[in-house]
Amino acid sequence: MTLSALIFQASERLILAGIPPDEARLEARLLAAHALNLTREALFLGQSDEADTALLEPFLCRRESREPLAYLLGERGFYGRDFFVTPDVLIPRPETELLVETTLAHPKVETLADIGTGSGCIAVTLACELPDVRIFATDLSERALSVARRNAERLGAAVEFLPGDLLGPLPDGFLFDAIVSNPPYISFGEKATLSPEVLGEPHVALFDVEADGLGFYRRLASKSSQKLAPGGLLAVEVGQGQAAPVAQLWSAAGFEDVTILLDLAGIGRVVRGIWHLQP
Ligand code: GLN
Repeated sequence: MTLSALIFQASERLILAGIPPDEARLEARLLAAHALNLTREALFLGQSDEADTALLEPFLCRRESREPLAYLLGERGFYGRDFFVTPDVLIPRPETELLVETTLAHPKVETLADIGTGSGCIAVTLACELPDVRIFATDLSERALSVARRNAERLGAAVEFLPGDLLGPLPDGFLFDAIVSNPPYISFGEKATLSPEVLGEPHVALFDVEADGLGFYRRLASKSSQKLAPGGLLAVEVGQGQAAPVAQLWSAAGFEDVTILLDLAGIGRVVRGIWHLQP
């Protein structure tokens, strides 16, 4: 079978599996390139060459059963760099780049902590962009941390990874200029609304045990002030509809200049606040 016929058949199968046609066509190409070890150029130029259907088949079957594409390809782009991903980590999302930009816009950062680092996409990106900043990253999952360490190594980033819950593993007697996090914020009540792909991601990275999905924000609001230097930034990603309640939590905890930033879809996606020590 020619490569173009193989890709056509594969995209038809993905459409039948419930993947929207535009995505199915692109995914069929990406999976074929990955499975047959083709460069982008070979993929687009050599479509009359004979292709080995058997190589693509296992990937196609897994995608038909709605395994996330990024896990099949083994990587996902984030802020212009490629990150390894496995089913042990949340797949980096484009909207999380807004959290990176918010952090980069904060002046005079020398020390920073990323809480619940997962694939390490936030901490490693910031380490690449701000090579002089000392960056710590925590995660409860050792398996996630080993993916994050591989990403730091791949991208030549110096990040100190610490296993444990929330801010717990951060060194004592050390104040940070910025604390950032994209914590699990989906409530169990929303589970039925999620796609099979999202449900294929680690539940510990997706779900908050509290009914409103705000549990991690409550804990961050109360704990991070003890770890922030005066003028320090607390910035988090939030789910749809959570920006206003999280901004209220930040204000109630004594943060100043509390701001909601909108993503490209116009949804409040990042909440930031500045910590000032009371005299
Ligand atoms: N910090 C990682 C990310 O933004 C992981 C987040 C998570 O697991 N909730 O992708």
